[in-house]
Amino acid sequence: MHGNMMDVPLTIPFILERARTVYAGREVVSLLVGGRDEAGHPVPHKHRTTYGAVADRALRLGAALQGLGLQPGDRVATLAVNSFRHLEAYLGVPSAGFVVHTVNIRLHPEQIAWILNHAEDRVLLIENVFAAMIPALRAACPQLEHIFVLGPTPQPIPGAQDYDAWIMGHEPLARYPRLDENDAAAMCYTSGTTGNPKGVMYTHRSTVLHSLASAPKDALNVGESDVVLPVVPMFHVNAWGLPYTCAMYGAAQVFAGAFSDGKTLAALMQDEGVTITAGVPTIWMGLLAELDRAKAGGQPYDLARLERLVVGGSAAPESMIRAFQDRHGLRLAHAWGMTETHPLGTASIVPPGVPETSDEGYALRAKQGRAVPLVFLDILSEDGEALPHDGKTMGRLIARGPWIASGYYKGEGQDNFFERDGELWFDTGDIATLDPQGFMHIQDRAKDLIKSGGEWISSVDLENAIMAHPAVALCAVIAMDDPKWDERPLAVVTLNPGQQVTHEELSTFLAPRFAKWWLPDATVVAESIPIGATGKFLKRELREQYRGYPHT
Ligand code: ADP
Repeated sequence: MHGNMMDVPLTIPFILERARTVYAGREVVSLLVGGRDEAGHPVPHKHRTTYGAVADRALRLGAALQGLGLQPGDRVATLAVNSFRHLEAYLGVPSAGFVVHTVNIRLHPEQIAWILNHAEDRVLLIENVFAAMIPALRAACPQLEHIFVLGPTPQPIPGAQDYDAWIMGHEPLARYPRLDENDAAAMCYTSGTTGNPKGVMYTHRSTVLHSLASAPKDALNVGESDVVLPVVPMFHVNAWGLPYTCAMYGAAQVFAGAFSDGKTLAALMQDEGVTITAGVPTIWMGLLAELDRAKAGGQPYDLARLERLVVGGSAAPESMIRAFQDRHGLRLAHAWGMTETHPLGTASIVPPGVPETSDEGYALRAKQGRAVPLVFLDILSEDGEALPHDGKTMGRLIARGPWIASGYYKGEGQDNFFERDGELWFDTGDIATLDPQGFMHIQDRAKDLIKSGGEWISSVDLENAIMAHPAVALCAVIAMDDPKWDERPLAVVTLNPGQQVTHEELSTFLAPRFAKWWLPDATVVAESIPIGATGKFLKRELREQYRGYPHT
């Protein structure tokens, strides 16, 4: 027997309308590039607006897109930094019946063109600071019919129009089109670390549910009184959904635009009274260095309002979580997810009874945390058998839920999806443990795991332990081919200024924490470690670089 509750479609216009009406006066602050200094570095200029104004412009954008004669479901690409204009696209494009396709600006131009062609984008909204790419994109992407430039340019750009003039030439959309909650609303490509990037299509429904589920205090802790700075780019998994979550709940938003250095971020957080921020570990390392510098110089930042720094995208070492807490009284909270999971899958919140700053508390905070409600996780053996949730057994992490992808655009990559007891599951490609309380701990990407003599060694665990050594700035552990054991770990480290460390010293440092056979066979001190377009170590490149590296 059916119940008798209303079946109201969950669509993005609901978020837009709420921001437009209930939260019309709430602020949206953006750092834009206001010019260049003598050295050619961008100088920030602060732009202030409100949800009311953003919503009005988003509706004008919707009307303007309809005026181009697009068909429902057509893709509108963005190559843009975090700013109020990008937020307009997030809200306006799907509300007018189209799909907002956020493209990663840090990819190689050829890869960008490949993605635009694969998605068959008909319109591109491109930030003024990237306008130099326009001729090459025009040449490489014949299906791109219209290009609009976000922000002022010194002179008109051939083949492109000014976005502001275009949208302001239209009245706001008077009526939303009829939308099915399962229509595509937004699109992101995976970073393609294995094979070509694959397109993930978020639906209106998945976006609304993800926003609802991201806000509670045991998730990202977003409410109307918050001021949220998503440092994570809006081209990377929808900035972890924060622009939608904040608009739904009325949190003020602060965007750092093209700026991600510790100094700009610290000043922005202080001046705007930021309460919640989110970013990858490498960004927080830069912030930590700046906070340390300012404190040592006797002029610490006042970040008293900063309640939580969400960290994800790769594992945050426990030493970093401790450093923020001990030296600056700031709380780093782990979250885990991926493009295919919208991304919020887990959040690491210490349960009652465990002091956050106890050893037990830190150990839990270094894990990725518990699945948020409606997300289900499990771990499987290589043969597909369910493994125990004992906090020790490593297995392939699989996920299921209303904001987990059920496939990729054009039906590619179907191997990642499988049926189990009549239910669809997604194979994340991560190797993890789950403990009896549900805390998930990422051990590795399956492709980065080191398989030594038939046993698994977690490169992430070793990296996090090595990064706790005072001489070490960054560490990536990779597999070296080994004739006897198949693979053995190699540690590649960069050092803090003026510091030295030997392989023997590191081995002694690690010995109390790991079985002997886990310890790296060799340590290489490198000038730098390559970091990819989404802030992660490029281990594939490192493996190429150190292929055949001689070890003891
Ligand atoms: P891609 O999978 O294309 O590299 P994503 O941004 O989707 O790009 O990355 C998802 C992956 O990042 C996860 O599968 C996981 O391996 C890693 N990851 C994300 N968050 C965390 C975290 N908190 N700790 C450790 N690894 C993480």
